[in-house]
Amino acid sequence: MTDHRRLLLVHAHPDDESSSTGATIARYCAEGATVTLVTCTLGEEGEIVPDDLAHLSPGSGLATHRLDELHAAAAALGLTDYVRLGGDGRYHDSGMAHAEDGTATARDETTDAAFWNADLLEAALNLVSIIRDRRPQVVVSYDTFGMYGHPDHVMAHRVMTYACVLSGVHGYRPELGKPWTVARTFWTTNGSDDMRTMMATAKAKGIENRWGDFDLDGPLPPMITKSEDVDVRIPLGPYRTNKVAALTAHHSQVDMEDPFWKLMTDIESLGESFRLATGVAPSGGTATDLFEGLDLDP
Ligand SMILES: [Zn+2]
Repeated sequence: MTDHRRLLLVHAHPDDESSSTGATIARYCAEGATVTLVTCTLGEEGEIVPDDLAHLSPGSGLATHRLDELHAAAAALGLTDYVRLGGDGRYHDSGMAHAEDGTATARDETTDAAFWNADLLEAALNLVSIIRDRRPQVVVSYDTFGMYGHPDHVMAHRVMTYACVLSGVHGYRPELGKPWTVARTFWTTNGSDDMRTMMATAKAKGIENRWGDFDLDGPLPPMITKSEDVDVRIPLGPYRTNKVAALTAHHSQVDMEDPFWKLMTDIESLGESFRLATGVAPSGGTATDLFEGLDLDP
């Protein structure tokens, strides 16, 4: 039987697809759904983690290197359809600064090429042509705060939201393809129960807490959602190994020997969580399928 499910994910940088949705991508690819990844920048301003890559810099080879890492990560996830918004290098990583409250924010100075400074309509139209071509029923990106405040993640949210509206408007920019209405959009998040598991494990193992000091029963930071408000949760389960392999491929950004990273992937019962932004909610509590209850006629 043909699988008519089509999922499109909009991520800011290479490695985001693996860290927040690696198991989800691997699962839908393995099940035979059509999965498309749109990466908005090549992560040219990403902080280089390992010493052996310290020679790379925004101006010398980091973009090419991170594209190679993305190829390897996609292979690990079983993903074959992945593109960059507007083509490779169209939008540059905006970098980030640290806000006083510990979240990320835009730098005081950014270049004209930075994704943060992109014209929203132009960027959205680049995505409209991809949406109209791939016709996904489900589109995933970040919340209004980009999970933690990084300007490129905030911009990815805005571009996704705008493009999903424009894509469905009949008679609008027909040269970009036949109108397509996305049935559901989701924002990635972390469920409070998963955070509770990770924080308890970190404490028991003496792993440094880099999430900040907060009470999971009190007001939650932006990147965490109360578990009862999570609309869909995809357990890592058998796709944990794909996620680990994909994150390992992003060697410039991720040290999988670091206990903090291990913590996020060592526990099979952890899951990737999503909040429904638009469209009809899956029925009854937290679903385990982004497409649950959708009419999937081709
Ligand atoms: Zn990112």
